[in-house]
Amino acid sequence: MTAATEATTTSASGERDARAGSVELDRVTKRYGDATAVDGVSLSVEPGEFISLLGPSGCGKTTTLRMIAGFEQPDDGDIRISGRSVLGAAPYRRDVNTVFQAYALFPHMSVAENVAYGLQQRRTPKSEVRERVSEALELVQMRRFADRRPTQLSGGQQQRVALARALVNRPAVLLLDEPLGALDRQLREEMQLELKLLQSRLGITFVFVTHDQGEALSMSDRIAIMREGRIEQLADADTIYARPASAYVAAFVGQQNFFRGVAAEGGTAVESAHGLIRGIRSAAAAGLVDGAAAQAAVRPEFVSIEADAAGGAPSAPNSVHGTLLGVSHLGETMQYLVRLGDDQSLIVRRPTPDAPDLAVDARVRCSWNPDHVQVFPADDAAVAGGYVAPPTH
Ligand code: ADP
Ligand code: MG
Repeated sequence: MTAATEATTTSASGERDARAGSVELDRVTKRYGDATAVDGVSLSVEPGEFISLLGPSGCGKTTTLRMIAGFEQPDDGDIRISGRSVLGAAPYRRDVNTVFQAYALFPHMSVAENVAYGLQQRRTPKSEVRERVSEALELVQMRRFADRRPTQLSGGQQQRVALARALVNRPAVLLLDEPLGALDRQLREEMQLELKLLQSRLGITFVFVTHDQGEALSMSDRIAIMREGRIEQLADADTIYARPASAYVAAFVGQQNFFRGVAAEGGTAVESAHGLIRGIRSAAAAGLVDGAAAQAAVRPEFVSIEADAAGGAPSAPNSVHGTLLGVSHLGETMQYLVRLGDDQSLIVRRPTPDAPDLAVDARVRCSWNPDHVQVFPADDAAVAGGYVAPPTH
């Protein structure tokens, strides 16, 4: 072999290794009859990255994951895993494993037999099976339950076994479809932490599907927010939360108060029924002209609230008056619901230690800093309290 060909070979395999565990979707589309479930999605997942697909039911998360896994074929576009196109490749030929919400453990087999099953199907030598099953169960802290039946386990333990069953194959990429959806809240939060730790320790690429924003925000390196088969924004949690790319993202992630009206002051403010709301022009509002339909978004934690002693003081920008409808204790925060008028209420959240003591029916004044307000073009789908899914047929 000449020096030149040797160098080429080395660099080619080096490049392949560098891409091991990467997932690339290139304008991937999937149609069912007339309906487009996934609509030209492009996404590049780095090796070892934890990425979440987040969105309401029906937005195309599972279909996207099933195409990466190989259970569905795209109508258009390309999918590359570890740098190589996998179009047409059967699921077991791909360097991925999938964990579903329904764990589908074999009830008549022990935990160890469940985990060993895939390896045995592939005729892995017995001693290697034993070793790898033991290692996978150790990873999810289930070794001492190896001889139990799934029915003798709690939901969280069954979930761990399902995870071990995927990890035993040592995939470069793990696909997870709402894997914690069946667990109660406390267990779900524990498992979120465990999964995240496991993922960073093993360096496996995770593509994690969820409709639970808290789950996505707490675990992911980056989050793809999906809407009707497309990715609306792909960014880290801080960016998604503080700089949502659209009113839809602003409404879907975290709580939001929207003031609707028309754009003013060069698209940095909204003239609403409750006065002028000043803020920052969002990326989506780049082409927004004054007078066009617009909405301003204000998160509950940025609003301050106090008793309105003067009663009907002259109104200033980013300052509104209303009546306190109710107060709820949320643990770390107190939440106030304020009625501003027939058509609008405002949610306010203050840290419990310095939450003002206000009586229901009191007149209150609420205000906030324009730095925390984003201005968007009007979007009927994005309303206060969350996203309203379009009617399905
Ligand atoms: P999500 O996982 O985000 O809830 P899905 O990917 O399951 O969404 O579904 C996306 C859209 O595709 C939905 O409108 C759903 O009804 C439709 N869909 C999914 N799978 C099929 C199928 N096998 N046949 C027909 N329509 C489907
Ligand atoms: Mg789904």
